[in-house]
Amino acid sequence: MSEISSSKIICPQCGGENSIRADEKFLECEYCGSSVFIDKRRIVSHFVVNSNFTKEQAEGNLRRWMAGNYHVKDLDKLAQITQVSFYYFPLWYFKTKDPQGDRIHLQPAHSTPVSEIKNIQIPAGNLKPYHKSDFTDEVFVEADVLYDSAKSWLSQSGVNPDNISESSLVNVPFYHFYYLYKGQQYSALVEASSGMVYANIWPAKSEMPFKILFAAAILLFGLASIASFAVSFLISPDISAETVFFGEFIKIFAYILAAVPLTAIAYWIVKKV
Ligand SMILES: [Zn+2]
Repeated sequence: MSEISSSKIICPQCGGENSIRADEKFLECEYCGSSVFIDKRRIVSHFVVNSNFTKEQAEGNLRRWMAGNYHVKDLDKLAQITQVSFYYFPLWYFKTKDPQGDRIHLQPAHSTPVSEIKNIQIPAGNLKPYHKSDFTDEVFVEADVLYDSAKSWLSQSGVNPDNISESSLVNVPFYHFYYLYKGQQYSALVEASSGMVYANIWPAKSEMPFKILFAAAILLFGLASIASFAVSFLISPDISAETVFFGEFIKIFAYILAAVPLTAIAYWIVKKV
């Protein structure tokens, strides 16, 4: 059996015929200069998204994200960044034609712990043809998830593969931050064209204090009800409509009184946790 050492591929942009070695994955068309990625025998356009953020700016975005409401109190001040890496991560970019219009779907072309990565938004105008010579010093993560695997994941998530009108490979720039919080390691990605932060897990606010407070509130209001009717009964020991009415009357004030410490504790928890 002989190995084919060279073959011809047709450029998806201009239709020009290019020669390519069997093991080659990247090609710049000798006629129009556009960039092509070869996955097995499939040929797709290869794009790159430019980075607009420095490492310092990306870290600033990460700290602001950490200061947000979903994260544990003072995470932005206490998180200790241990490592930052910058790379261009490969994503399969599918455009589908639906009755509602065009839609973009992304699938990672390499394994990643941050599955949120496929929810990033890439405006079509940000896709630039990839030219190897422009990125000699940069890290490009290899696209090792095959096109067909990405397509089958897409159909598993409910997209009809027959509706795919366009596919390409896109390398998107990311700052990957690793940080320590209370001895635990976490990671987050800052997408370097938009500055958006993506993460799957982070030190979240604990819900336990709120659950305990809720249980305490039920108990306290229950006791306030019982106490109100007990007081009413002590004042007029004969059971009558008036006793019940007076009990209800006292209850209003008992509830207001009970609400004061509960509100104060809730406020304190929000500030502290
Ligand atoms: Zn071409």
